[in-house]
Amino acid sequence: MKKQTIATTTNYQKPDAYGALSMPVYHCCAFEFDTAKHMTDSFTGRVPDPEYVRVMNPTVTFFENRVKALTDAANVFAFNSGMAAITNVLLCFVKAGKNIVTSNHLFGNTVSLMRNTLGPLGIETREVNLLDLDAVRAAVDDDTACVFLEIITNPQMEVADLSALAEIAHAKGVPLIADTTLIPFTEFDAKALGIDAQVVSSTKYISAGATSLGGLIIDYGTFPVINRKTRFELLFNMGYYMTPHAAYMQTTGLESLDARYKVQSSTALELAKRLQGVPQIKRVNYTGLPDNPFYDISRRQFGNTAGAMLTIDLEDKQAAISFINRLKVIHRASNLFDNKSLALHPASTIFAAFSGSQRRAMDVYDTTIRLSIGLEHVDDLYDDIIQALQ
Ligand SMILES: *Cc1c(COP(=O)(O)O)cnc(C)c1O
Repeated sequence: MKKQTIATTTNYQKPDAYGALSMPVYHCCAFEFDTAKHMTDSFTGRVPDPEYVRVMNPTVTFFENRVKALTDAANVFAFNSGMAAITNVLLCFVKAGKNIVTSNHLFGNTVSLMRNTLGPLGIETREVNLLDLDAVRAAVDDDTACVFLEIITNPQMEVADLSALAEIAHAKGVPLIADTTLIPFTEFDAKALGIDAQVVSSTKYISAGATSLGGLIIDYGTFPVINRKTRFELLFNMGYYMTPHAAYMQTTGLESLDARYKVQSSTALELAKRLQGVPQIKRVNYTGLPDNPFYDISRRQFGNTAGAMLTIDLEDKQAAISFINRLKVIHRASNLFDNKSLALHPASTIFAAFSGSQRRAMDVYDTTIRLSIGLEHVDDLYDDIIQALQ
């Protein structure tokens, strides 16, 4: 079956008493067992029945199984947020004395997780230019825990060569872990590109219009420690498992993902093309534009679409701020891939906690505006941008 069909057909683990057509939301904390042995079997993982909702809930399992069917992953784990998924996957590999090889072009909280939360625990973060394969090769050593990156960086829109990075990581026996939030996992074959585990903020495309917070680890089974540590240790100890209500909304979100993504990515491309001709806009950064430096590699790795996020640069900071204030259709909000289009000034919001020189080192500029494209008609988005530039 094609993915659009798989997204609407996942079998239940057990038949529902009422034949409900959607997986019911199991708002309960405990599950009753037939016998003491059944209870032991559940607690030791010999049967897949849920023992306690901090680690398993049928509604969440149903959501995880649907993602598994869509990705051919060995294991899928759902968390309360994208950050929880990132934290969990890193904790599978790091310990004091180990290092993470990554870049400084990362989501702001991921940078902070590595530098400020994991740093004091004795874990070093090595920020290198992931486009420079020799620099990556030099950074990966016997103490490297993993290579971590985002498939399209935000807001720089940089795309690294995944197969080449995977080769470097695998030569040292360490995994390549990719935050793939920017392109839906249904659009490309992460495993074929050498990614060992994807992490996704399902708050974005999957939640279908910003309905709920969530995160996923999509584990291809190449590093069994991910399954072992997550299933038998971290979910129990950290307490950040996805809630059944979020799983219900995000399961429904998966059913319309393909249809929404087709509209959002094609509107983003059309808008990017039109904005290239607007004199007040100094630069349009979108990897789907043929003159973008990452156009070829983006197509090779992710197929014909380039996501629904783009950035534009105006003359100076004041122009960027005034532009944001004048928008009428596009909303001033920090999120990605809502059904509504959103605009944000990264330097003064997501990256406000960093100093000016730190921001420049991360290629986050005062002139840049990030746009996340929703389901509105492209003409209305274009008109709104033009009136806001006047
Ligand atoms: C939003 C986002 C996150 C964090 O996800 P939350 O669900 O908000 O915790 C991580 N990485 C990327 C690329 C994101 O866009």
